[in-house]
Amino acid sequence: MTIPIVTLKPGKEQSLNRFHPWIFSGAINFVSQELEEGELVRVVSSKQDFLAIGHYQIGSIAIRIVSFEDVAIDAAFWEKKLLEALNLRRALGLLGSEQTNVFRLIHGEGDGMPGLIVDFYNGTAVYQAHSVGMYHIRYELAELLKKLMGDSLIAVYDKSDKTLPFKADIQPENGYLLGSSGPGVVKEYGLSYHVDWIEGQKTGFFIDQRENRKLVEHFSKGRDVLNMFCYSGGFSFFAMQGGAKLVHSVDSSAKAIELTNQNVALNFKDDQRHEAFAADAFDFIRDMKNCYDLIILDPPAFAKHRGALRPALQAYKRLNAKAFEQIRSGGVLFTFSCSQVVSKDQF
Ligand code: SAH
Repeated sequence: MTIPIVTLKPGKEQSLNRFHPWIFSGAINFVSQELEEGELVRVVSSKQDFLAIGHYQIGSIAIRIVSFEDVAIDAAFWEKKLLEALNLRRALGLLGSEQTNVFRLIHGEGDGMPGLIVDFYNGTAVYQAHSVGMYHIRYELAELLKKLMGDSLIAVYDKSDKTLPFKADIQPENGYLLGSSGPGVVKEYGLSYHVDWIEGQKTGFFIDQRENRKLVEHFSKGRDVLNMFCYSGGFSFFAMQGGAKLVHSVDSSAKAIELTNQNVALNFKDDQRHEAFAADAFDFIRDMKNCYDLIILDPPAFAKHRGALRPALQAYKRLNAKAFEQIRSGGVLFTFSCSQVVSKDQF
């Protein structure tokens, strides 16, 4: 089967020569045939030189590159990519660890697989496709993961219904691609969490904050801690592990508060140091008195797109200014933004 050829406009090969993994729709000059969303295409320069192979998608990012080499994109190709990703996690001490069995197994562009996130939850892999191309090959990749991971992989759950582009003409339904498993308990640096990948936020858990939670443990000894936007409570029980005197967890979602209480109990049964409050962060921080000397602010993205930048910056300012005002002298503030459009300098 010959794959369609996409010819770029003159000069548009430059970013590919630097291995940038995306091609924007404006860079395309012409295509050899009508393209179907999610299919593989060969990308060539205006002089018809081979550049890369990628998944085509309708939208401003038109092609996500999977190979800069002219090779067959077959099972062996994907197996090699997955193996490299696994080897990296093994080298980092994550794969096979007794202490931490929750981590990101495949991280999109970082693992040469744009459009794909796979998170590992103590035997269950949660597959999240952000591109139609990666959605089409979900069963194939699940089988390959099983082949590579053997008994350490029990199930692969596809959770792509909210992450696929809305223009795509597919009706994704979440479900197991392989095996099955219920909500489970995972470990991060020896502490435990209940994780529900089916009902929970994102793929079930905010894995990206692992090292920061560990850092909070380090700073918590003897401190009174406020964990704002706590979700499943990780920062709270790392603070408790670190010897905090008192820990308050706040989230506007009652479900998150329930989860936090469950997780605290899982790690520190009947420990009176912790209390959780279902409340709006802005109200809570306005009304609290200066009773904390370690505050964590980990809100959801206030700006999900450029248009929301100004009000988002205002909200970050209000929130952080209040925390500066209210934190005790000598206190430590952990503050985060996950808004892609907010630069580090602006923050
Ligand atoms: N710190 C968490 C992740 C936070 S995710 C962790 O380590 O896992 C952001 C959380 O903020 C969500 O649980 C969401 O329910 C909560 N949230 C969103 N808006 C809020 C508000 N105005 N006040 C309090 N919590 C809010």
